Amino acid sequence: MATPTWHDRAASLQIDARAFIGGKRVDSCTGQRFDCISPIDGRKLAEVARCGPQDVDAAVAAARAAFEDRRWAGKAPAERKGVLVRLADLMLAHRDELALLETLDMGKPIRYSRSVDVQLAQNCIRWYGEAIDKIYDQIAPSPEDSLALITREPVGVVAAIIPWNYPMLMAAWKIGPALAAGNSLVLKPSEKAPLSSLKLAELALEAGVPPGVFNVVPGFGDEAGRALGLHMDVDCIAFTGSTRVGKEIIQMAGQSNLKRAWTELGGKSANIVCADCPDLDAAVSSAIGSIYFNQGESCNAPSRLFVEASIKDAFMEKALALLPRFAPGDPLDEATVMGAIVDQAQMKTVLGYIESGKEEGARLLAGGRAARQDSGGLYVEPTLFDGVEQRMRIAREEIFGPVLSVLSFTDVREAVRQANATPYGLAAAVWTADMSRAIQTARSLRAGTVHVNQYDNDDITVPFGGYKQSGNGRDKSLHAFDKYTELKTTWIQIG
Ligand code: NAD
Repeated sequence: MATPTWHDRAASLQIDARAFIGGKRVDSCTGQRFDCISPIDGRKLAEVARCGPQDVDAAVAAARAAFEDRRWAGKAPAERKGVLVRLADLMLAHRDELALLETLDMGKPIRYSRSVDVQLAQNCIRWYGEAIDKIYDQIAPSPEDSLALITREPVGVVAAIIPWNYPMLMAAWKIGPALAAGNSLVLKPSEKAPLSSLKLAELALEAGVPPGVFNVVPGFGDEAGRALGLHMDVDCIAFTGSTRVGKEIIQMAGQSNLKRAWTELGGKSANIVCADCPDLDAAVSSAIGSIYFNQGESCNAPSRLFVEASIKDAFMEKALALLPRFAPGDPLDEATVMGAIVDQAQMKTVLGYIESGKEEGARLLAGGRAARQDSGGLYVEPTLFDGVEQRMRIAREEIFGPVLSVLSFTDVREAVRQANATPYGLAAAVWTADMSRAIQTARSLRAGTVHVNQYDNDDITVPFGGYKQSGNGRDKSLHAFDKYTELKTTWIQIG
C-alpha cells in the first residue's frame, strides 16, 4: 500500500477542539464556539470552544485545587522529571499528528513543523524535566546560632498566554519550566492557532501530569485572555505576543492582584553586514534564510538589513539570486520552504506595509504581491525593499511577514545608532572579520541576543528575551525558572 501523503493524513485527521479543564475535555460554559480556518486552503478545520471569564474561573479553580493539594508541587523533583520526560517521548510518538495540526492551523511548511517545531518543543520539555532534579538550593553564610536557607518554591497558579507564530514551541517554553518547577498552569493559546496546545494537554495527562495541573482555555484575547490578566487568583502571568498587548498585561496585573507579569514581545531586529564580512555568501544566505523562515512571522526575524555601501551591489545581486527558493508553496508538500500567512488580518497588514514602503519611496526589488490565490489560501511573495530609510514605516515597525528592508551605511557606528533607534531590542547581528569591531558592536547593540558572523544559532541552554519594549523576561535556559519560582528565606534558630 502506498504511504499516505500529508494531504491524505490531513483529510482523515480527527480534531477535538474543546477546552481542557481539570483533566477533561469540556465545551465552553456558554456552549459558544468559533471556526478554526486553515490558511493553507481556507478549509474549516474545527469548531473551537470559545472560552470566556466563566471558563477561565473554572480552569483557575482547577489549577488552584491541584496546587493546594500538592498533587504535583509536592512530588519529588525526580518524579516530575519522569513525567515530563514521558511527555517529551509522547510528543515524539505523536510527531506527525502534532506537525500536521501546526501546519494546518497556522500555515507553516510541514518539513519545518515536523523537524523544527515538534523537535524543539519536545526537547524543551525534556530539558526542563531533566534539569529539575539537578538544581540545589542554598544556605546563606549564617551566624553560629542560626541557619538561613535560601530556597525556591513554585509561584503557584501560572497563566500563560501565547501567540500563533510558533504555537507549540511557545507553549513548550512556558510549560517546560513552569511545570518542572511545580506550578499549576492555565494556558491560553492564540485564537488563530489553538490546536497543538489542546493536543499537548491531552498528551500531558497521558504522561502522568495530574488532572488540574495543566489546563487549556482556547478563546479570544479580550475574553479569555483578559479574564486571566485580571484574575485575582492567578499568581503569575507569562505572556508572549505583541508589545501593544504586553503593555495591557502589565496594566492588568497592576489593576488586579499585582500578579508577577512577564512579557516576551515584538521585535525589529537589525542585521549589520560590514565590508570585511568574513564570508559574504554565508551572510547573504543567513540574511535571506532568516527573514523568510516561517514566512517572516518570527519575533526575532532580522527584518532590517544594514549593508556597508561598498559591498551593497554584490550583496544584493547574491540575495536576489536566492529569492526564487522561497517562493510560497503548498505547506503540505515536503519540498516547500515558505508557507501561508496565518489569516486574512495578518495578510492585510503585510500587504499594507508593502504598499506603505512603495508610497514612502523605498525601491521594491522583488515580490510585493499575494501569491497562490487559486489555492484558496493566503500567501505572499518573498519581498525585498532596497533604499529604505529610517523615516519609513517599513524601517521602524514590526511587519511580521516575508518583507526585508535594506538600508546602507558607511560608518558602522552610524549603523549601530540606527539599529538602536527603535523601541524594540530583541535580537541583532554584526558580520565582520575584525574581532575588536565585532565585540564593540555587539556591546553597543541594545538587544537581548546578539549574533556575530551568523544569525540563527539557537539552543535551549541560552536565555531568549528582549531589551526595551521587546519585553521584561527571559524564556529558555535555567534563567526561565526565575519567572516561575519565588525565592524564600527561612531562618532557623539553633540551640
Ligand atoms: P497578540 O499580542 O495579538 O496576541 C498574543 C496573545 O495575546 C494571543 O493569545 C491573544 O489572544 C492574546 N491577547 C490579545 N489581546 C489580549 C488582551 N487584551 N488581554 C489578554 N490577552 C490578549 O500577538 P500575536 O499576533 O498573536 O503574535 C505576534 C506577536 O508576538 C509579534 O509581535 C511577535 O514579535 C511576538 N512574539 C514574541 C516572541 C518573543 O519571545 N519575544 C515570540 C513569538 C512572538
